[in-house]
Amino acid sequence: MKEDRKTILIVEDDRYIIHFLTVSFKEEAYAFQVAGTVKEAVSLFYANRPDLVILDLGLPDGNGMEVIRSIREIADSPVIVVSARQEEEEKIQALDAGADDYVTKPFYMGELLARIRAALRKTEVRPQGKNTCFEQGDLRVDFENRRVEAGGKEVHLTPIEYKILNLLIANRGKVLTHHYILKEIWGYEEGVEAGTLRVFMATLRRKIEKNPSEPQHIMTEVGVGYRFR
Ligand code: CA
Repeated sequence: MKEDRKTILIVEDDRYIIHFLTVSFKEEAYAFQVAGTVKEAVSLFYANRPDLVILDLGLPDGNGMEVIRSIREIADSPVIVVSARQEEEEKIQALDAGADDYVTKPFYMGELLARIRAALRKTEVRPQGKNTCFEQGDLRVDFENRRVEAGGKEVHLTPIEYKILNLLIANRGKVLTHHYILKEIWGYEEGVEAGTLRVFMATLRRKIEKNPSEPQHIMTEVGVGYRFR
């Protein structure tokens, strides 16, 4: 019988954080392994194929971004970046390199656990109605095959970006508040940092909008949320 316990690879060089994570993961009955360097992370991932990766970016022998790229060569297991760095640009780079989500240190364990559950669940927000395709301007979403095209080219969306896009399309014309989107996508709205959604919207717009600073599809409702045109 296959064991149902999920395995998490923790890539982190800070002993205090490793301790904090492993105590919680034991309580949650997750199996885990710990890697303290880029090299160790890549070899453990290739050897054991964990279900999910928690990744620090600042590692003694390199940048966690290298770990994301190596993982993405062979698998699409969810990668959650846990970084002390505040720069939005770096988070966007991590998402572009193939990370699924990120949490900024210091973080609440409850929030990280909610992100882990969301990433492992991989549920998709299904659009209402029977249409399996959605088209607007140069944007085309094929829900059946999970394919997104913009400007005649296929674009790769992370699972979270895809969920956000589906949610917006399913509610097109309506204003969705930040709280509503956070709750629908991550299942958790308390304590989620305000910038989280902004970062995902920035990467999503860059992928589907011809000119991200003058969006044609995803409109910002200042101070409230977002609306799909
Ligand atoms: Ca570090």
